[in-house]
Amino acid sequence: MQESLPVAAASPLSRRTRQARAVWGSNVVTIGGDAPVRIQSMTNTDTQEAVATAIQVKELALAGSELVRITVNTPEAAAQVPYIREQLDRMGIDVPLVGDFHYNGHRLLTEFPDCAQALSKYRINPGNVGKGEKRDRQFAQMIEAAMRWDKCVRIGVNWGSLDQELLAQMMDENSRRADPWDAKAVMYEALVTSAIESARQAESLGMDGSQIILSCKVSGVQDLVSVYRELARRCDYALHLGLTEAGMGTKGTVASSVAMGLLLQEGIGDTIRVSLTPQPGEPRTQEVVIAAEILQSLGLRSFVPSVTACPGCGRTTSTTFQELAKQIDDHLRSSMPVWRAKYPGVETMKLAVMGCIVNGPGESKHADIGISLPGTGEAPAAPVFIDGQKAMTLRGDNIARDFQRIVEEYIEKRFGHVADHA
Ligand code: SF4
Repeated sequence: MQESLPVAAASPLSRRTRQARAVWGSNVVTIGGDAPVRIQSMTNTDTQEAVATAIQVKELALAGSELVRITVNTPEAAAQVPYIREQLDRMGIDVPLVGDFHYNGHRLLTEFPDCAQALSKYRINPGNVGKGEKRDRQFAQMIEAAMRWDKCVRIGVNWGSLDQELLAQMMDENSRRADPWDAKAVMYEALVTSAIESARQAESLGMDGSQIILSCKVSGVQDLVSVYRELARRCDYALHLGLTEAGMGTKGTVASSVAMGLLLQEGIGDTIRVSLTPQPGEPRTQEVVIAAEILQSLGLRSFVPSVTACPGCGRTTSTTFQELAKQIDDHLRSSMPVWRAKYPGVETMKLAVMGCIVNGPGESKHADIGISLPGTGEAPAAPVFIDGQKAMTLRGDNIARDFQRIVEEYIEKRFGHVADHA
């Protein structure tokens, strides 16, 4: 038999970018460089409603968002930004605010210095800063505000609002090519060029290149991969990743996960946002949960203990294990805002909830704590494995409650003392 080599382990590549700093007061959140891939989100409240906006920012931050973007579209909205910051500070919510500007950002940042100061980062869309000669002047005003207040910027190109003059010029140039590119290739080139030229322009105005983050958002998975690969090849600015208008529910979740998963595996992306359209009744925080799952499933970061559950099959006709897996998962997620501080490292814990004896004991042994529930026809007993060893067997009607108690005792024992001595 031919000697075989060990199967190589897959892991995301790393790509070194420059590091931006989102600063407010004495706080700072770094993006790019050696920082972990950051999760961002965006509110959908009216920014003029300062209290409602501060509450949603708080919810997003507690769910795990490390930067939260708010729309700053009118003088009334700009006037409320310092109050939103103030309320967050009062609530102890340490999350930087990113201002999303279109069309009038140059005016708002100049006329509302308290707003310019309260924000930690400005999002500038080069396609929406004005036309012709005005464009350069207005873009410069925004960059000057960023430099004055020591803020980083995201130069965020979006294919729905691509600089039309640049696109027309590139289409013209393309028509003169002996062998013209197809329209899609020209669009990709226009997106990448718009982002990089705007960044160079900001640098020529005196902005530190490490304070510039780039994004080129499109709504197709393959388009996003094409554009970001090229962007990553041509520059070392930190990159913000996101599929724009990803859509609702399963479609939005899958498209965002696939697109970002492919790029993150290649080391591309320093901060991500899942642009999910919330379904009626769905909390805004769902986009943060999905972003965290993307990073955790790639092994890039850990946010919440993971629960491995089998899909179930004909060997188990009861839904007990599905209910238990959901109950445990919900409990872990809802406890994390408190556990994060109380039990450092708890987010790396692994649990397994399995439906029968076929894979149950094996999978459970690989987890920190695992339970193998009885399948159809098996004895009504559920062995529990702790750190790879069978620790006990649960029986009776309260298996779920007993297992939850065992999990909590394990967490206290294994992670509780870390905080005591920190
Ligand atoms: S562990 Fe048992 S119930 Fe779960 S999928 Fe495997 S065989 Fe089916």
